[in-house]
Order: sequence, then structure tokens, then C-alpha cells
Amino acid sequence: NDISRDPLAVVNNHGGDEFLQSRLTAKDLVMDLLKKRAAEVDVDRCEAGEEDAFYVADMGEVYRQHMRWKMNLGRVKPFYAVKCNPDPEVLRLMAQLGNGFDCASKSEIVMALQTGIDPSRIIYAQPCKTKSYLRYAKEVGVKQMTFDNADELYKIKATFPDAELYLRILTDDSTSLCRLSMKFGASMDVAPQLLDLARQLELKVVGVSFHVGSGAEDPRAFLKAVQDARLVFDQATEIGHELHTLDVGGGFCHETFEKFSGYLSEALETYFPPSVRIIAEPGRYYVASAFTLAANVIARRDVPDPLDPSRDAYMLYLNDGVYGNFSNIIFDHQHPIAQVLLSAADSQPGSPDSANLENNSYSIWGPTCDGIDVISERIDLPGLLNTGDWLYFEDMGAYTKCSATRFNGFSDNHEVIYISSETGASALLNY
Ligand code: PLP
Repeated sequence: NDISRDPLAVVNNHGGDEFLQSRLTAKDLVMDLLKKRAAEVDVDRCEAGEEDAFYVADMGEVYRQHMRWKMNLGRVKPFYAVKCNPDPEVLRLMAQLGNGFDCASKSEIVMALQTGIDPSRIIYAQPCKTKSYLRYAKEVGVKQMTFDNADELYKIKATFPDAELYLRILTDDSTSLCRLSMKFGASMDVAPQLLDLARQLELKVVGVSFHVGSGAEDPRAFLKAVQDARLVFDQATEIGHELHTLDVGGGFCHETFEKFSGYLSEALETYFPPSVRIIAEPGRYYVASAFTLAANVIARRDVPDPLDPSRDAYMLYLNDGVYGNFSNIIFDHQHPIAQVLLSAADSQPGSPDSANLENNSYSIWGPTCDGIDVISERIDLPGLLNTGDWLYFEDMGAYTKCSATRFNGFSDNHEVIYISSETGASALLNY
């Protein structure tokens, strides 16, 4: 099996023209709704907060991502990473689609169970668990969980000796946006000792897990991780454990999915026979592109253009920033791109004469008093935007709302308007 050749040549199944078409239609639907909702607000008369930022969430996009997953990684059962976006409608759809859940805390377990699923569809994928949460997991029958150190094994022995354990191993995540391996994962040297200790403690190790890092760039990280997992499977069998599942973690994203899944599929085929169950913990992949955020311009300051002081430039202040839904700029190293949604200027962007609008240079800021609260240092946008106008940002579904704060008294719980651009999702959710 020559894994070095481009897997894109082997697996290039993104759903074809049909999905491309429905994505375009979906975008129109989302835009219509964003505009309609924004146009309802009269900033000169509305109640405090009625102009707050809001989301439009397209459950049809989540559904399309699921179909794309099944086409490319049919052997791998997704356990959706709740941390990424614990939106109740997303969780409901995941449950309806038959997916499992990757939970990292008691409240994530509670949210997953509230969808009505069986606890066997949850993996408590946090190698360093809070004792009281572990007792809760036992109470509600969430048996599958990860570990990566000896102390955790003693803790599990004392609290939940019947748990089904996955040894999380280290990966090379040096190309990923959010590295995880400096915090979690047993090295290949330590893995046999942990397996030995688990055996002595009469604990049940049922699998191996890894995570190549969130926002990973190098798909070969999957190959190396799968090879290492194979070695650990063999060591575990020698020690007397009966492993049946490999958990390949998260790290997938919309843009590179076919490439990554191509490498992963080939590696799995090479190193793991069909008798081994394969699960994954995708987060970002499922939801990033499904959520679009609209935010209101609450203030504007006219300044000389820092690059050419003879020209005007503008500082726009939005009612959402890095302490809110743009927390992904800080925690997830993202660069959300502003686009004009609604402008009170005579020539509206998007209208037939909008081509005549000249671009102006803007910097875009959040509403708090902190200087770190900047969304975009410099961006050119059409027309002269002003207080009361609306901007929108696509791809805001992953690691955004879930890590928002209430700093300065701003909301951390913005309205989400749900739609479905796919009949499959509408049927599952009764939309
Ligand atoms: N599983 C674990 C253990 C994680 O820590 C994370 C993200 O931090 C995920 C899954 C989800 O990763 P992603 O959103 O890249 O798919």
C-alpha cells in the first residue's frame, strides 16, 4: 500500500455537483434570513439589546457534512465533540443522525444525555478527570473514557473500576492550529508501563485514542498516529488486554477533509482489520460552516489612514468582539472576515449599483473597553458604513459562542435562528 501518493486521487468524493448546488442555494437562504432579521431592528427606537449580534444556523449544512463524512469515512463512527459547539439543536441533530458524543465535563455529559441517547454513545474523552464528575459518569452509566497517566488509573480504580478505558497516546501535532500534545497523551515509552499498571489494577483497557491537534495542517500526522496506535494495540494484547476500538480523535476541517480522510482511510485499511471498531471525535468539521454571525455597527470614528495619512479611514465598533463570539480569534487563532450585510447608505452593497461603491479602509473593534478587543486590524469594504449598519461573518460555528464571556456586561448568549437547507435535516428535526 503506497500511502505516499496523493490520496485525493483515490478519494475525491465531496458530494459532487448536487452538494455544490445545494450549498449555493443554502447561502441564499441564510443571506435572506440575516437581512430580514437585521432589517427589523430600528436602532433609533429599539429596546436595549434588540440590536444584539445574532446567528443564523443552517442545520442542512451540518447534515451535508455528515453525508460527506459517511461517503469518505464510512468505517469511522463520529462521536461529536460537544465542546466545539454545544448548541442544543446541533446536539439534537447529532443524536438523530446516530452519532455518539465526546464529552469533557459533567455538564457536557448532561447535555448529551438530554438528547435521549443511551450512555454507551458517550465517551468521556478527558484524560485528567474531576473526581466528582467521574462519580457522576458512573452514576449515569458513561463507561467509556480516556486516560494517559498512572495517577488517573489509580483514580479510576478507586472510583469507577468497571470503566472501559482508552489509552490516549501522544501525536506529532506541530502543524496544528491548536496543539494538544503538550498537555495530553502518553509517549510511546510510557504506554507499555501504563498498560502493565492497568493490568495489575485489573482495569479494562478497550482501546487506544489520539488527537492530531485541532486545525491540523499535515494529513501525514494521521498516518504516524495510526502506526503508533497499532504498536500499542499489539503491546496491549501481549500484556493480556482485549482491545476492540481505535479512537482517531478530531482535527478534521471543512477545507481539507477529503485530503485528511484519504490519508486516514488508507492508514486504517493498512493497519487495522475490519474487526476493529473505529470511532472519531470531530468537532469543527461538523459545525464551523453552519453558523453565520451578524453584528451591528454601534459606533464609528473617522481617522487618517495609517498607511496613507492623506486619506480617510474608519474605525468601526461592533456590538460583539473577542470577549464574545469572536473568542475564536484568541482561543482558536481564527481570522473572521467581515462582509457588509445591510447599510443605510443610498447604494446598498448587493444592489445593482453597488458595483459603483468605492472601497473604504476600516479597522473593526469589539464593544469592550479593552484594546485587545479587535476583530480586524484592516479591511477594505464597499461604501461608507455608519452606526446602525450590519456586518456578517461566515464560518462562525466552531469554538465561538461556547467560549464567549460576559466581560463588561455584554451578553454571552446571542440569539440563534435555525433553518435547514436540506430536506433530510428538516425531516429529522421536524422543521
Ligand atoms: N477530542 C478532543 C479530546 C479534543 O480536545 C478536541 C478539541 O480540542 C476535539 C476532540 C475536537 O477537535 P476538532 O474540533 O479539531 O475536531
